[in-house]
Amino acid sequence: MKLKKPIIIFLIFISNLITYQNKYDSLIKDFKNNAISKEAILNRHIDLISGYADIISIFGNGIYQSTESGNSGFLNFIKFNSKENYFHADAIGGTKMEKTEGNLTGAGKIPIDKSVRDELNLAVHFNKVFNKLYHKLPDIKWMSYISENNFINRYPFIYSRDFRYTEDLKKQIFYTKAAPKENDSQKSVWTPVYLNRDKTELIVTYSIPIYYRKQFMGVVTIDFSNFRFKEMIDSKFESCLIDENGFVIASGHKKELGKEMISMEKFMDISDFTANTMKHMEVNKVKRINDYYVYSIRLANAPWKLFIRVPAWTILLESVLTTLPIMLICLFLLLTMNEAEKRKKTARLLRESIVELKSYQKLLESAAKMDFLTTTYNRRGYEEKLIEYMNEAEENKSPISVLIADIDFFKQYNDTYGHTAGDKLLINAADIMKRNVTKKDIVCRWGGEEFLILLFNKTYEEALRIAENIRKDIETSVTKLENFQTITFTITIGVAEYEKANNFDQCISSADKALYEGKEQGRNKVVGSRDIVTVP
Ligand code: GH3
Ligand code: MG
Ligand code: MG
Repeated sequence: MKLKKPIIIFLIFISNLITYQNKYDSLIKDFKNNAISKEAILNRHIDLISGYADIISIFGNGIYQSTESGNSGFLNFIKFNSKENYFHADAIGGTKMEKTEGNLTGAGKIPIDKSVRDELNLAVHFNKVFNKLYHKLPDIKWMSYISENNFINRYPFIYSRDFRYTEDLKKQIFYTKAAPKENDSQKSVWTPVYLNRDKTELIVTYSIPIYYRKQFMGVVTIDFSNFRFKEMIDSKFESCLIDENGFVIASGHKKELGKEMISMEKFMDISDFTANTMKHMEVNKVKRINDYYVYSIRLANAPWKLFIRVPAWTILLESVLTTLPIMLICLFLLLTMNEAEKRKKTARLLRESIVELKSYQKLLESAAKMDFLTTTYNRRGYEEKLIEYMNEAEENKSPISVLIADIDFFKQYNDTYGHTAGDKLLINAADIMKRNVTKKDIVCRWGGEEFLILLFNKTYEEALRIAENIRKDIETSVTKLENFQTITFTITIGVAEYEKANNFDQCISSADKALYEGKEQGRNKVVGSRDIVTVP
């Protein structure tokens, strides 16, 4: 049992560890898979957008190459505002076309130059694509064609009093980033995140440069609000999509973005140092950064990174919690084991104490029958034995004899040498008596310095001989006192045999009388009851 317990505790520990590790691994895996699925969704969306962008740039070329004349119907709507020196297609407002067309506005008078007229025509044709895309991608806010030739076609339709072409547009990042000066490769680009003109929304723009025969014409811009990105990365984990400058485009899991540009470190409430570690951490791997597990992804077709994080304690706690039921069962088992052990121990102690108690009881019982000083029987002990012996003697028809011995002049010894010396004589006398009888015989301290000896299966003659041996042994024995003084003493003994016709008290009385006779005759004597002449 002692060995079993540590083994059981060890096994419990191991099984808990395995359960914990399994849960931990599966939680980390779940976290990672979640991040990967978000990445896949984002990539699909971005690829879809760039696919449409390809269509737009090819479409641009196609219009230029077509021999067909342009949408002259639309161009007829264009009017010149002489007061503010710009042209617009406000007249479309309120017509059926308002739903399908944008508003074409530009600086100065309506162009009459053939090539610019062709370009206006192209801008108008973009409306068809814009219209389709606008309904496919609900996160699109605005789509525009901004021309190097100082005009813009903006979809959906908006009156020129609310929005129109200004020189300033060509200085905006959604234009400059796609224009040849900053974009040698002539590829479509994503702008960093920025606040819209009303400062109500965060926008990212996909800008597509339009070329015709290697000649840069202008830029198609598609403005996206960030709610679709938020939906895409939303999960039970905290996440955040950031642009190339480290500003947050969208965030997942409850955390709301305000109506302002906010850096990743501020949004995630982390130090610049931690943010830097996160930005440069190995991608596509779960990393522990401070109190979080973090997963980072660099998107394939946009200059963005996605960060997903989960507080480490939630993973650890959940892992620990799964071990809890096993832990409780084990604890219960251990407690039951302990309880069983305790019960066994108590039962053992109880048994032991019962044994001890019994031996005490025996000791007490025998103590009650013994004389402490001489370790001979006392009267009570003697009486018990007598009954036993009488029955036996009755059955076996065996004789019983009695000796009564009394130390001579004992009082004087006490007076001369002291009570302790007297005790020594008593002990010495008792030892000599015990030596001269068999184990079965009984030596009993009858009172004071008087002893009674019950001789079992001994005749009167045998008893006389034994008494004589005792008397002699005592006479010749030397008792050493504490002060090394030595003394001798004598004893007188009366002897009688139990006559079956009489009762036992009569036998004792006969022995007593013989003793008295011995004292009378001068002590240090053995006198038998049959030697006394009873005077009738
Ligand atoms: P006798 O020869 O006639 O027997 O004279 P005795 O002095 O022995 O007789 P007595 O009966 O006058 O004296 C008995 C004495 O035994 C009295 C008592 O002080 C002493 N005595 C009784 N019990 C003890 C005991 O346990 N220890 C000691 N030291 N003395 C005891
Ligand atoms: Mg006496
Ligand atoms: Mg005496």
